[in-house]
Amino acid sequence: MNVLTVENLSKTYGMTQALNDVSFECKEGEFFTLFGPSGAGKTTILELIAGMKSDYQGRISIRGRPLEGMAMQNRNIAMAFEDYALYPHMTVEENISFPLRSPRAPKRSVAEIRKKVQWTADELDIGHLLERNPVQLSGGQKQRVALARALVREADVYLLDEPIAHLDAKLRTVARANLKAMANNLGATIIYVTHDFREALGLSDRLLILNQGKVLQIDEPRKVYAKPATDFVGRLLGDPVMNMVDGLLRKSENGMTLLAGGVTLKLNAHLSQEAEDRLKAGSDKARLGIRPSGVQVHLEDPGNATALPVYTIEHSADHLLVYFEIAGVYFGGICPAHTDLSMGQQVWIRLDENRGHLFDATFDLDTSSVAEDAA
Ligand code: ADP
Ligand code: MG
Repeated sequence: MNVLTVENLSKTYGMTQALNDVSFECKEGEFFTLFGPSGAGKTTILELIAGMKSDYQGRISIRGRPLEGMAMQNRNIAMAFEDYALYPHMTVEENISFPLRSPRAPKRSVAEIRKKVQWTADELDIGHLLERNPVQLSGGQKQRVALARALVREADVYLLDEPIAHLDAKLRTVARANLKAMANNLGATIIYVTHDFREALGLSDRLLILNQGKVLQIDEPRKVYAKPATDFVGRLLGDPVMNMVDGLLRKSENGMTLLAGGVTLKLNAHLSQEAEDRLKAGSDKARLGIRPSGVQVHLEDPGNATALPVYTIEHSADHLLVYFEIAGVYFGGICPAHTDLSMGQQVWIRLDENRGHLFDATFDLDTSSVAEDAA
């Protein structure tokens, strides 16, 4: 059963259209992530679900019950927002137990409350901080206390807005793992907001990708990663970023190619099929998107490859990231870490089978950086 249903949600602030016809559903126990760049409208969605803001178009319901006109405190929703303030005069324990001691909460004994608070705090690695006051905590610890305060009580839906954004990179990896385990243990339905693609891919059962108030794609992480709906989605997920190059599709004796700034890129069978479909549909323009991990760099021609001079080389732990310049943009590929390569050397790049997509161009590629480097 769907716990949360959002239908055709739109919201404007003056001239700004913050949300434009957003629809999605969350299933019982689902970890559902709203992912997108800053300003995409993620927080606005949570605020409308929570009832912190009104004046919108569309419908929101929980277990089939419409939320329109229902007061915030009557919605069985728990939330932790990025800057959710703690009660400064209370200890960490008192802060976390606050929702359990509210008159609306189911009656619990002091011992039960203690146990629940301790368990929640332990899960988030703040079990040793219960006696402290908020002023004695770091930013990251405060954030985890706010998160614990949200997760400690039963709710239909938990709304978590960038709840671990203030943690440093190492702590964030731990917090991510804790949060995932905890969500599983609780079986809670979570709407999670982040602009960090690692969190979005690592935590979610499904994710919704939002930009400028519009839904671009809703699917499981591996599907969104493998088959982004648009060039923008492809670019948003992954590091190093997905290569993008604009060109013209051409049919040659040896198969399909993409003609891009004087380079004739040989396409793999899968991309050739997409190219045929495009040509049939009457368009020979395309934006090729392929992750550097799908581009193999060879010292000798392996067949169906494109010869190019090496532009620059980056060393990473298990391979070399080799960049080329095609049509004014960087285009990256990989080869084994021990490969003897130098800048300017001619090599061959080959696109892995079943990798890459042809997109319509929905944004301008930044061609200035390569041009500046070359100058
Ligand atoms: P996100 O959480 O994805 O960063 P927000 O939901 O905060 O995005 O904001 C979406 C858009 O709405 C942005 O363009 C933002 O500037 C605008 N916005 C958000 N809150 C307000 C507000 N109170 N008044 C005016 N504009 C707002
Ligand atoms: Mg936000």
